[in-house]
Amino acid sequence: MDTASAAAPRGQRLEGKPIADAVKAQVAAAVAARQAQGLPRPGLAVILVGDDPASEIYVRNKARACEAVGIASQLHRYDGNTTPAEVLRKLDALNADPAVHGILVQSPLPPQFDADEIIDRIDPQKDVDGFHPYNLGRLAQRRPILRPCTPKGIMTMLSQTGRPLRGQHAVIVGASNHVGRPMGLELLLAGCTVTSTHKFTRDLATQVGRADIVVAAAGRPGLVAGAWIKEGALVIDVGINRLPSGKVVGDVEFEAALPRASYITPVPGGVGLMTVASLLENTLLAAEQLSPAA
Ligand code: NAD
Repeated sequence: MDTASAAAPRGQRLEGKPIADAVKAQVAAAVAARQAQGLPRPGLAVILVGDDPASEIYVRNKARACEAVGIASQLHRYDGNTTPAEVLRKLDALNADPAVHGILVQSPLPPQFDADEIIDRIDPQKDVDGFHPYNLGRLAQRRPILRPCTPKGIMTMLSQTGRPLRGQHAVIVGASNHVGRPMGLELLLAGCTVTSTHKFTRDLATQVGRADIVVAAAGRPGLVAGAWIKEGALVIDVGINRLPSGKVVGDVEFEAALPRASYITPVPGGVGLMTVASLLENTLLAAEQLSPAA
């Protein structure tokens, strides 16, 4: 066992709220400072297609968070039968609108949409989700600008633990474009030795058991058994899974993992709050780059 893990205290909940609140306070102060200089408020445009109930909640939370920090948000709603051409036209208009610094299209999109075509159409300078190939490529080349929100938020959480990341072995469960892959790039950038696992990985238990840092992002409730966690490991649970009972749980067996982990993020109340906080940071950053101080 490495000394960092061995020395760490056990069973600490790494809550998202205090960290997200600190990020929001920083963004609010920066927005206020911009306004005092006569610069425009950062503006975020959100496109929502269809009536997915979870998306409705996410979009509402994002709008509230924007309002709280002084970011101007606008919501463009489309019904589930909307053609991709109509949304692409709206993206062109938003790309050209100087009051809009950030654009995001809430996923999932209805089946008639090709999500890649939609992401590719967003001006990379306004791509506050960080999903455009330009922004993911920048992250891969170690010169990120707009970074995917969930991995970015996790990096902020990790920094709050005070644990050094350099040389740590990070194991990521899940390799999606939105979470798992950019998470690997972030941790690599921070000097971790990164193992990416996915649905074809053999013997996930052994892989996870080697990790100083586990990031679980598969969307499978209880996939990561508590007994797999190495003593003193730092556990980040990205999963959001609604059980038939209505309860929302992560991908990690929380109660069994808690006494083994040094830190573990709860679900809900962990990473999800950081994703929204990172979106606010990205919108501010986009505004600073598109409408800089003279
Ligand atoms: P996804 O379905 O796009 O990707 C899931 C990944 O998990 C895939 O790479 C797949 O290969 C892998 N996987 C599936 N089964 C596996 C198994 N048995 N073993 C190992 N890997 C396996 O999902 P996503 O968009 O990356 O989201 C993952 C989870 O994170 C979901 O629960 C989602 O709701 C949640 N999420 C949370 C936030 C947040 O802010 N907290 C943000 C985004 C996604």
